Amino acid sequence: MNAQDPEHYSFIDAAQRALGDPAAVAQRDMLARVTPQLRERAVAGFGEFEALRQHLRRVRQHTLDNLDYYLPRFELEATHNGNRVHYAETARDLNGIVLDICREHGARRVAKGKSMVTEETELTASLEREGLHVVETDLGEYIVQLAGEKPAHIVGPARHKSIAQIRELFLAAHKLGERKLERAEDLVAEARQVMREHFLGAEVGIIGANALIAENGYSMLVTNEGNGDLCASLPKVLIVCTTLDRLLPRATDAAALQRLLVRSATGQDQTCYTSFYSGPRRAADADGPLETHIVLLDNHRSDILDSDYRDMLQCIRCGACLNHCPIFAAAGGHAYGSVYPGPMGSVLAPLLDSLETYAELPNACTSCGRCEEVCPAAIPLPDLLRDLRHDQQRAGITPQRWRRGMRLHAWLAGQPRLYHWLTARGIGLLNWLGRRRGAFRRLPFAGGWTGERDFPAPQRGTFMQQYRALQREVPDDE
Ligand code: SF4
Repeated sequence: MNAQDPEHYSFIDAAQRALGDPAAVAQRDMLARVTPQLRERAVAGFGEFEALRQHLRRVRQHTLDNLDYYLPRFELEATHNGNRVHYAETARDLNGIVLDICREHGARRVAKGKSMVTEETELTASLEREGLHVVETDLGEYIVQLAGEKPAHIVGPARHKSIAQIRELFLAAHKLGERKLERAEDLVAEARQVMREHFLGAEVGIIGANALIAENGYSMLVTNEGNGDLCASLPKVLIVCTTLDRLLPRATDAAALQRLLVRSATGQDQTCYTSFYSGPRRAADADGPLETHIVLLDNHRSDILDSDYRDMLQCIRCGACLNHCPIFAAAGGHAYGSVYPGPMGSVLAPLLDSLETYAELPNACTSCGRCEEVCPAAIPLPDLLRDLRHDQQRAGITPQRWRRGMRLHAWLAGQPRLYHWLTARGIGLLNWLGRRRGAFRRLPFAGGWTGERDFPAPQRGTFMQQYRALQREVPDDE
């Protein structure tokens, strides 16, 4: 998918590089404090969040269980509305379908809204290789496009950029002469000014979808900037790129999803724009595209549907699990090497690509469980990550020393007397060796820890020794 160089990609190396930039670390720390507070306030003020979460989970489960009914129904309704529906099995297929449509219309300029699916297929680069001029019109996406980077977050692609960095990018990219660009408002105003000509000049608009509604063939898009609507209504051709798992039976289900999504993603009660697209302009319409296409990407989602990981298809791409993950906060989105970072990406990237390429991601987890707690789709992310680790172990992908270590641990855990004897001796030895300094600068087999920090010397016995001592002290009531 996106691990820049699968041969040499390493999450650990990338995370270490990310930790070496103090300004970026401070920015991530700040975001890790603020974004969970915003979500918490919005969820607490809503009142029905948990009930709606469980309701939507059931609806989505039902839809996935009955895709063979809802997908043809959606296609029928969407076609009836005048759309052309295409199926893309692979990322390359989606890019090819979009390119063919652009060529059919002699398009040279494309205005593109935010779409993680097109990030997954690397559509922009693919169209640019064929000579098309593609402009990302979501402000965050536009910033990372200017920077030549991938999004660092599925909801806030440029969250990692400071105002000063964005200012530098704008001054270099926009030939607008001497000007002050000191405040965020100045940057937004300039982006709006520059973007206007792209909207007006583009022959093709491309957007994503947050939901596809089977009962009426509509797609729903939630944005805060309104750029999706301009991409969808100004160019003469509109292409909606999305995936099969966005399907919902009814418009009311899409409304329920929107209420969960917005609160989980940005902590807002309401997003600025929630748009429903039916199809091409009708005779009585004042504006809108003359031709509309919907491209549905599979890219291994059918395999996921048939696997033990099908819960992952319930993801609504809100980004809440990223915002609450201590690993994501420390390492940042780019370290994951995939367009899908954080806990959801650590499950999805290996499933959409391969367990080998993204072998470290299922292990980039502290098992704190915060991701599952906040996930509006109630996806058991820690369980899925653990299952992926099992699969890696079974497939022999886990590094050999880890496998040997786990085998030794499993064997030892099956010999409780020996285990307690050995751990008691080990703790006693560490206690004695560390008695002067109270900590170790280096320890065999713990280089990953002591490379960054001291290892505290154990002060008391093992857990079981302390537990037994406590039992002896506390009189038994019975
Ligand atoms: S896994 Fe859950 S919390 Fe994470 S992006 Fe998907 S829906 Fe949101």
